[in-house]
Amino acid sequence: MNRQEIAKTLKLTAQLMEVHNENPFKVKSLANAAYRLAKSGIDIEQMSLEELEKVEGIGKSIAQKINELQVSNELKELKQMLSITPSGVVDMLEIKGIGPKKVAQLWKELEVESVGELLYACHENRLVDLKGFGSKTQDQVKKAIEFSMINAGKFLYAHMEEKGLGLVEWLKKKYATDLVSLTGEVRRKSEVLEKLEVLVASSDTLLPELEEQFPFPVDITICKPEEFSAKLFETTGSKQHLSMLTEAGYLTDKSAFQQATSEEAIYRSMGLAFIPPELREGLQEINWAKENEIPSLIKLSDLKGILHNHSTYSDGFNSLREMAEYAKQLGYEYLGICDHSQSAFYANGLKPSRVIEQQNEIDQLNKELAPFKIFKGIESDILNDGSLDYTEEMLKSFDFIVASVHSNLKMDKEKATSRLLKAIENPYTTILGHPTGRLLLSRAGYPIDHKKIIDACAAHHVAIELNANPYRLDIDWRWIQYCIEKGVPVSINPDAHHKQGYLDMHYGVCVARKGGLTKETCFNALSRDEIGTYFNNRRDKN
Ligand SMILES: [Zn+2]
Ligand SMILES: [Zn+2]
Repeated sequence: MNRQEIAKTLKLTAQLMEVHNENPFKVKSLANAAYRLAKSGIDIEQMSLEELEKVEGIGKSIAQKINELQVSNELKELKQMLSITPSGVVDMLEIKGIGPKKVAQLWKELEVESVGELLYACHENRLVDLKGFGSKTQDQVKKAIEFSMINAGKFLYAHMEEKGLGLVEWLKKKYATDLVSLTGEVRRKSEVLEKLEVLVASSDTLLPELEEQFPFPVDITICKPEEFSAKLFETTGSKQHLSMLTEAGYLTDKSAFQQATSEEAIYRSMGLAFIPPELREGLQEINWAKENEIPSLIKLSDLKGILHNHSTYSDGFNSLREMAEYAKQLGYEYLGICDHSQSAFYANGLKPSRVIEQQNEIDQLNKELAPFKIFKGIESDILNDGSLDYTEEMLKSFDFIVASVHSNLKMDKEKATSRLLKAIENPYTTILGHPTGRLLLSRAGYPIDHKKIIDACAAHHVAIELNANPYRLDIDWRWIQYCIEKGVPVSINPDAHHKQGYLDMHYGVCVARKGGLTKETCFNALSRDEIGTYFNNRRDKN
């Protein structure tokens, strides 16, 4: 078992211990250890039992559990608990908003033994009178179950991309051709996918036996080599893209491009500019193509720096120096360090004295690494009333501030919008971080009035983050055009908690392209000097 699998198993063990009402102290230390393992990059595979015991937060008894998992791939204690817990109750542990204690209560007091039964119990209002629940919790549980049902059978782009590219290579060899391409939603770089679609040109029409195990649906189409471009065109665009072309009369004579040698030629034959696959969603792309105004979409190499990253000062895995050196090594001109602010106690948020300590270290590193530059930032919690998390004196000490919501996420649209608006109006806010707090396929964000938020960012010269973590990709790319219209720069930020997290910028760029973002409209495409001047000017105004 690798580190992530071990962390998952320990977490499940802790949850089941809680369901079965075991010693809360033991439950807590096991849950903490699982969390640490999942979030850290400790290489436990290379560690002896003695070394493991010494890792902070692990200790003797948990080290033994890890060892048992490494040696035998199972945990006796877990096996025993699973044998006395209905599997549907185990599934209920996945539902957001109810912890193991409440799951136990639902099981023991309402005799609910599966997620389906729980949804039914919600419809029957049976959670309302249950101690510690109430109608609000019932509503949340119902929503969480419905959300997970809608999302069942969907996959994150980031989890499919590499496998998809591997499959393409495998098919190229198998059919001895270069005419193999990803197509459909994966080629459009949709953030969430239902299947992997691949197009192969071959005179051999026999579908391959997939040697590799794919834990998700794969759809392979085989076409005649001379029809490859036409088929690629037909299978790439969304239904809306194709029906808009049809309605506008562009597809009346398909024979005109059936033998075309490229997709460029196909669009040209319709009198349109080439539309990149990412844009073929049936929005405004056809109008752009008609006017020859397809935006020149952003590329990873256009990004000059990486803003919004964490270090060991708060909950990151790598030190400030390691984060800086790796950013420099990747060819970036600057790094923005934004550890968590003081209210984020769960993430080791920075008390004012630690902020000063970090800023001193940044000054030192900047001398050493010049012309590379570390900008002094913070990810300030947006408190419940919309205010930022430090005194004005402290806020002044930063080059820039990413303001984000991390607590009290259960808000209605009005509350969420006014909370964000207050933060945007704060003259120290530079970037609005992950605007909705969503986690793709696992948590819907709090609802916000996007237009109001973007309008306010425009009025107060605040940039909006496109959080590049593949689970977030927040702000949703569908709002990027509105940001551009209003002149609000979009900042593609990896929110890296580990230096490898920088590589998530790729996923941010994928969806930024879907939204039509260009170099000119992207905040961190600014050079070191440009962004430094921008920060200084903004600070001087305050
Ligand atoms: Zn955050
Ligand atoms: Zn962050």
